[in-house]
Formats: sequence, structure tokens, C-alpha cells
Amino acid sequence: MIKIGILGSTGSIGTQTLEIVRNNQDIQVMALAAGSSVRKMEEQIREFSPRIAVMWEEKAADELRMAVADTNTKVLSGMEGLLEIAVMEEMEVLVTAIVGMIGIRPTIAAIKAGKKIALANKETLVTAGHIIMPLAAEKKVSILPVDSEHSAIFQSLHGENRERVSKILLTASGGPFRGRKREELTEITVEDALKHPNWSMGRKITVDSATLVNKGLEVIEAKWLFGIEPEKIQVIVHPQSIIHSMVEYVDGGIMAQLGEPDMKLPIQYALFYPDRRPMKGRRVDFYELGSITFEKPDMETFRGLKMAYDAIGQGGSMPTVFNAANERAVSLFLDRKIKFLEIYDLIQGAMEHHKNIQNPSVDEILKAEAESYEYIDARRRL
Ligand code: NAD
Ligand code: MG
Repeated sequence: MIKIGILGSTGSIGTQTLEIVRNNQDIQVMALAAGSSVRKMEEQIREFSPRIAVMWEEKAADELRMAVADTNTKVLSGMEGLLEIAVMEEMEVLVTAIVGMIGIRPTIAAIKAGKKIALANKETLVTAGHIIMPLAAEKKVSILPVDSEHSAIFQSLHGENRERVSKILLTASGGPFRGRKREELTEITVEDALKHPNWSMGRKITVDSATLVNKGLEVIEAKWLFGIEPEKIQVIVHPQSIIHSMVEYVDGGIMAQLGEPDMKLPIQYALFYPDRRPMKGRRVDFYELGSITFEKPDMETFRGLKMAYDAIGQGGSMPTVFNAANERAVSLFLDRKIKFLEIYDLIQGAMEHHKNIQNPSVDEILKAEAESYEYIDARRRL
């Protein structure tokens, strides 16, 4: 029996993780956490009977407590609740499917408590990779990637000597606006940005895919997960999303992982690694597919990727500022308070404004996050 906890259980990755639980008899859900959706959480509690359920918002926790008073699930709230899940004795694997930097502290606490991490929450590694990866090595804890590209890289590294890797080839769909130029992006609406061609995901990551910020976050995530320098990570636009990423070795050989675009595969692979369990679903039909194509990313139009290389090049707290400014800017865009292209301007402004700190502690990371938010709020008041 694999005993898991899920942070972000009502979201896109969270609900797909629960679908895998439904399809496998030997996974038990010990804990669930979500932001504010009380109804969805109540349904999940009734179906999976976790020991603990956490709602981020206190009010939502109160409501949930009343709704599930007839069950044995203990309801908690806030960071305290997330941290309690992270160190729960009975839990072996923590699925971090929460969105944003809020995942840093629970992830660190879980690693300290010796829990395996199935990591979807890339913002955590982007901002605190220099703390998380050495800590995981020290505690002999595996960080298993859930992000599809990183799962593909992980699978392509299987059984190989990592010193023989020459390059990582990170694929990108290019998002809904691929091929457009800057002047064609000025009037993009929230609805346009939320139409991803291949993947159905949460709102924030869908906008990040449209700006290519997501691919930038993934370059940084890959650096930390696989200990490879960003110069050796090449982004390749591959609009059909069939090749999920590749690894090139010193002899020129390339290993790739392919499949239909379905997040359940990487989630399930992380949960059962190194086993591969059967999974229903569509299969790639190469006759039907006919061809797949590749392009160079347009980093002049989709500046998010270029800014990510710049942030990781500077290192220290700069990736935090890149990420935090993006989190704030995307939330303003989703609230229809700024235009699509302003997302880039706000990230760039925050990065230029920031005095970089090398090797930041968790407190310094959270301070850099708060300062980035303040910078954006102050700039918008001008
Ligand atoms: P989502 O918005 O669909 O879901 C987020 C979940 O986190 C929800 O359950 C929400 O209630 C919960 N949450 C938000 N704030 C919280 C808080 N403060 N406390 C507790 N719970 C909170 O997001 P998603 O698309 O599932 O993405 C989750 C993470 O996985 C992100 O880091 C994203 O980049 C990454 N990821 C997602 C996909 C995908 O296909 N959706 C693919 C790769 C990586
Ligand atoms: Mg991805």
C-alpha cells in the first residue's frame, strides 16, 4: 500500500492524482489540502476518507468542519495545516500539486521528515532549488518529477550514466499564440490565453504557457532536478506535444519519451516508480499522426523564456523575483487589471529593481517574493 498526501487536491493535477487512486487498489489517501473549494473537498473526503483535510482559508475550514462533522477526518487550516500534513507519520509520498511559492515550506518540511516528493509544484524548485536538492540528497529522499517534460527527461535518463549527458532537449508546445508577433498580442483577452492547444491545466500555468514563462520555469526546474547547467538545456517548440522531452548523450544518441499529452502518465509514473502500471487511455497512432514538427522558440516576442535564462544566469534570489513577479502579474491579468504584454513589463521591471542576494535562505526568498509584490503594487499606483 502506498500512502499519499496531496497538496492542491481540488486542482488539475490533484484531481488527476485522485483518478489514479481510483484506478489502483493499493494507494491510500492519508491527507488532502486545497485553497477554498469546500464543496469539492467535501466530496473528496467522503470518497477517500483522509485522516486530515486542510483548507487554506480559515473561513473555508470552518465551513468544511461543519459539513464533514459526521466523518473521521480532522479539518485544519493555513500553513500550520499544510505543515502538519507534510510531516504526518503514516504518509510516505507527498504530491505537491499546489500552485505557487506557497509550496516551499511544506516541501522542505516533508523532505526533513523523510517523505518522498512527487513534485508538480515547479515554483518551489525554481525559487528554492539550491536548498531543496541538497536537503533531499542529505535525507536520501527522492524528488520524483510530475511535470511532463521532467518526467520524460527522468525516464530518458533511466539506466544511463548521467556524466555522459551532453544536453537536455526540453520540448514546448509553443502555446496558443505560437507564430504571432508582438503587435498581434496587444489585445489578447483572458479567454484567448486560457485556450491551450494540447493540455488542460490550471489557469495560472495555462497563462504561463501562453507567455512561455512556463517553459522558462521548466528550464530552471530542470537545472535543479538534473544538476545540468542552463546552457545545456535547449528548448524546442514541438506543437503536437507527442515528444515530451529528450536527452542527448556524448555519442550523439538521443533518448526520448513519447506519448499522448495526458498528465496522468507522469503522475502515475512518479507514484509507482520504478514500476510501470497499466493505464487506460488513447495511444499514439503514428499512421494517423503522419508527421511531427519542430521550431526554434521566438524569444523576442515571448520574452518570458529569455527572462528566465537571464534570471537563472544571475542566480541567487533573481529566479524568485522572476517567479514572484510573474505570479502577481498573471493574477492581475486574470483579474483583467493589466494587458497580456504587461506581464513581461512587470517581470522585467521587478528584476531590474531587485538587488540580487546569492544563496538566499528561505526567509530571504520569502522577503524577495514580498518585495516583488510591493514593487508591482507601487508601480501600478503611479
Ligand atoms: P490548479 O490551479 O488547477 O490547482 C491548484 C490547487 O492548489 C487547487 O487544489 C487549489 O485549491 C490549491 N491551492 C491553491 N492555493 C492554495 C493554498 N494557499 N493552500 C492550499 N491549497 C492551495 O493548478 P494545477 O494546474 O493543478 O497546477 C498545480 C502545480 O502543478 C503548479 O505548480 C503547476 O505549475 C504544476 N503543473 C501543472 C500541470 C498541469 O497539467 N495542470 C502540469 C505540470 C505542472
Ligand atoms: Mg510542463
